[in-house]
Amino acid sequence: MTSYDSENIFAKILREEIPCDKVYEDEFALAFHDITPQAPIHVLVIPKGEYISFDDFSAGASPEAMTGFYRAVQASAQKLGLGENGYRVITNIGRDGRQEVKHYHLHILGGGDMGLMKRGLA
Ligand code: 5GP
Repeated sequence: MTSYDSENIFAKILREEIPCDKVYEDEFALAFHDITPQAPIHVLVIPKGEYISFDDFSAGASPEAMTGFYRAVQASAQKLGLGENGYRVITNIGRDGRQEVKHYHLHILGGGDMGLMKRGLA
């Protein structure tokens, strides 16, 4: 695995070097609207530590950081009003997962029927 690049765009958002449209923040995580939404509501949730992906985070983060992060994802979805009708959470990992930004993030997608999951091979 390559090492964490502290110049990635989400690291810059965490350092407030570039702006974001913030939804939720606590000591563990920051949630903000995706710049190119793929659903009526499309929010990204990122942990505050330096983790490349779900794989990296799950292997290396402390139990406290993991619990705090996933609680922040749930709190973000609630704040967005998605609790009642539901939503989709996805994460892309590495080359085959087509991960573009190499700071771990979950996508919260909602605001309507997200449709069936379909297998997409390039
Ligand atoms: P990935 O493909 O890595 O799972 O998703 C990266 C996401 O980050 C994409 O949905 C993309 O639209 C979003 N994104 C990329 N650059 C920026 C940015 O500067 N600001 C925000 N808010 N979203 C970004």
